[in-house]
Amino acid sequence: MSRYGMVIDTKKCVGCTDCVIACETENNVPYGFSRSWVNQIAIGKFPDTKVEILSERCNHCSNPPCVHVCPTGASYVNELGIVLVDHDKCIGCKACVEACPYGARYIHPDGYADKCTFCNHRVEKGEDPACVAVCPTHSMYFGDLDDPNSEVSKLLNSREHHTILPEIGTEPKIFYLK
Ligand code: SF4
Ligand code: SF4
Repeated sequence: MSRYGMVIDTKKCVGCTDCVIACETENNVPYGFSRSWVNQIAIGKFPDTKVEILSERCNHCSNPPCVHVCPTGASYVNELGIVLVDHDKCIGCKACVEACPYGARYIHPDGYADKCTFCNHRVEKGEDPACVAVCPTHSMYFGDLDDPNSEVSKLLNSREHHTILPEIGTEPKIFYLK
């Protein structure tokens, strides 16, 4: 089993939101909902503060509460470590929406839970997720975290990085290079 994840270089990201628009287009995200978003956070203490721009989406957690709470098995982890929803099994109970600490899920107007899939349909063809492919500053990287020769592994081995809410034990697979 592989363990696919994403590495985002916050020094390269300019917050243009091209990744968000690419995601909406690629995945026919319904109007009024989002599978991804761009956040800005202030880090440090005044006067030594700076703004960090974070392109966010489902973290495809290694310990995913959304999967643990799903009563039907609709939410699951595939062989690449990607957290997905089987629309046919989903009853729209919202347990996963409530359980996700990152606000990454919503109920699609057609009645099933929806969120980022890491563009699994593209990954299966050997392509990068749409957000990674479109980023004009090439700040996003996607690959197998368990492969020591992958670009994502090399970046994590060579650069300082962090995840979002590491203290809650979800083990996010999106890493932000500082
Ligand atoms: S970010 Fe939320 S929806 Fe995604 S795997 Fe983690 S808990 Fe589940
Ligand atoms: S909304 Fe669907 S995927 Fe989410 S917990 Fe309920 S049945 Fe599972």
